[in-house]
Amino acid sequence: VMGNQTEKEELGRATWKFLHTMMARYPETPTETERKSLKDFMMLFSTLYPCGECATHFNKMITTYPPQTSSRVAASQWLCAMHNNVNERLKKPVFDCSGIEAKYPCGCDEEKSSNE
Ligand code: FAD
Repeated sequence: VMGNQTEKEELGRATWKFLHTMMARYPETPTETERKSLKDFMMLFSTLYPCGECATHFNKMITTYPPQTSSRVAASQWLCAMHNNVNERLKKPVFDCSGIEAKYPCGCDEEKSSNE
């Protein structure tokens, strides 16, 4: 069965927004624990995402290109590249990843780290 394309797209937009915003607030110099959390989060996300076809593709892709967790820039650029990979598969335009962190403000206090 086809499923509902509108709902699938809405879920996709909301999820990408959350994921890119999370990367834009990931620490610039993460601890080993923070690095493990991000890697585990992305791997678990890729098995639990509620669109079976999307999850299968995404899981395969991030097994080939493991999450980059060494810094905010590394994590943001990695996710941008993964999203572009999905864009290409769906014949959508490629997004310019330069300065991506600034394109995803979280509305939170800039003085404080993401988990305070
Ligand atoms: P989206 O791709 O949802 O992007 C939303 C906005 O983010 C864009 O308007 C743009 O402003 C910005 N953006 C675009 N590219 C990037 C980028 N590289 N980095 C940062 N920001 C960017 N749909 C399917 O039909 N099949 C699938 O297999 C599939 N797999 C998916 C896997 C995952 C993990 C996710 C989260 C979604 C998946 N989707 C899939 C949904 C699909 O990616 C889109 O979210 C959906 O089609 C809506 O597309 P959109 O054109 O509104 O823009």
